[in-house]
Amino acid sequence: MEIHGWGRYPTVNADIDEPVDALSLSQLLQVQDQQQPAIPRGAGRSYGDSALAERVISSRFLDHFVKFDDAAGEIVCASGVTLEQILQISVPKGWFLPVVPGTRFVTVGGAIASDVHGKNHHLDGCFSEFVKSIGVMLASGETVQCSHTRQKNLFRATCGGMGLTGVILQATLKLSRIESAFIKQTALPAANLDEIFTLFEENAHSKYSVAWLDCLAKGKNLGRSLLYLGEHATDNNLELQDSFSVSVPFHSPGFLLNKYSIGVFNSGYFNLNKRGNGDKQLHYENYFFPLDRIHHWNRLYGRKGFLQYQFVIPTETAKEGISSVLREVSNKGKGSFLTVLKKMGQQNKNFLSFPLDGYTLALDFKYEQSLLPLLDRLDEIVLAHDGKFYLAKDARMNEQTFKQAYPEWEKFMKVRNQVDPDDRFTSLQARRLGLVSAPNGDRHVQ
Ligand SMILES: Cc1cc2nc3c(=O)[nH]c(=O)nc-3n(C[C@H](O)[C@H](O)[C@H](O)COP(=O)(O)OP(=O)(O)OC[C@H]3O[C@@H](n4cnc5c(N)ncnc54)[C@H](O)[C@@H]3O)c2cc1C
Repeated sequence: MEIHGWGRYPTVNADIDEPVDALSLSQLLQVQDQQQPAIPRGAGRSYGDSALAERVISSRFLDHFVKFDDAAGEIVCASGVTLEQILQISVPKGWFLPVVPGTRFVTVGGAIASDVHGKNHHLDGCFSEFVKSIGVMLASGETVQCSHTRQKNLFRATCGGMGLTGVILQATLKLSRIESAFIKQTALPAANLDEIFTLFEENAHSKYSVAWLDCLAKGKNLGRSLLYLGEHATDNNLELQDSFSVSVPFHSPGFLLNKYSIGVFNSGYFNLNKRGNGDKQLHYENYFFPLDRIHHWNRLYGRKGFLQYQFVIPTETAKEGISSVLREVSNKGKGSFLTVLKKMGQQNKNFLSFPLDGYTLALDFKYEQSLLPLLDRLDEIVLAHDGKFYLAKDARMNEQTFKQAYPEWEKFMKVRNQVDPDDRFTSLQARRLGLVSAPNGDRHVQ
């Protein structure tokens, strides 16, 4: 069947295997020895081609809980369990996932393989910081337990390793205590890039922070934005909410999203909120996952899909680099419907994890051929400022750019050569970025 990531670009015709447990997965890997290589796949919420190959191993049926230790705040579950399913059982008991991305519909396996970050990276780091241990089934069919202290290199290659070391079967996760299911939000407007960077730094102690930017603003308004800060409330209300959602039923004609409609939306949204709306208490779902209320919102970009471009630049050069990127985008009139800026904290030791101490910007662009030269130009700007690109969003970066941005790729490949010398696990992205063990990188490419 035809599959794609959240951006709906690119697509591939794939055979899908759906093992139900470790035994059926190891049998599958034995048979697969004579077949095409495969890539593990969770909920398919990565944007590009990291979970795409001609053969995928879906974690759809690896979806059971093993243990929830309510006293210690620890959960053991299979890798296909979603963050949504965990929060449904943990929040009423006063426990929260310490790191959540912008959608709760991702699997635990996908969150580990991309080493996802949230709105609190500047204080708490990545998802893997709270992973106590994982069980990974290697290409040989052997399951290896690894953690921050045991089989460290396999752990560091698997967290952020985009499914290329093996299939994560199970994980033990640490949770954080909460007293409420609600978040106290403060919204602060910023007239331009200088102001938003100052606000981020002044509020660096805030547990959560994220800014929405008007990417078409120019000149003295470049970078005008709204900063949303958040803290866990303490009102002892741990109730889940009845989720209200709507769905985009079919692909909207792609031409509806153009620089004019995006401009109207962006400036309208900013003007509506520019006085800031002070303090407000929101249910955690509304603060962390506002887009989850619109199912299939990715269809709004039309049949050809869209690309999300996310990069991070170290603090010292972040303002300069981000303003160059925004100017380039604004001059080319390529509107981004959603442009999100976050502050990040210390880099961890995982070989391919994305975050580093700096600022990350994510922009969404409707796919069109003329977009690609612009993104190549943005790559040059980001590299010139010592930045890097998020693999979970990537669908088009070239090998040279990747290897310059991720100097630890060779350490990653050392582990991969040990655990998967024959490239049994590979994705379209891995081949494009040269993350292949086989000489010439094309031994198995069909
Ligand atoms: C609306 C939206 C908002 C987002 N916001 C954020 C954000 O704020 N921060 C952030 O960091 N990310 C964010 N993301 C990206 C998302 O969190 C990651 O792409 C995540 O990896 C998706 O998980 P998944 O289960 O859908 O995995 P998939 O997309 O299916 O796979 C992603 C990668 O994980 C690997 N993988 C999946 N399951 C396994 C497994 N069991 N074993 C080994 N490897 C596996 C795949 O091979 C692939 O390389 C967002 C995505 C969306 C759609």
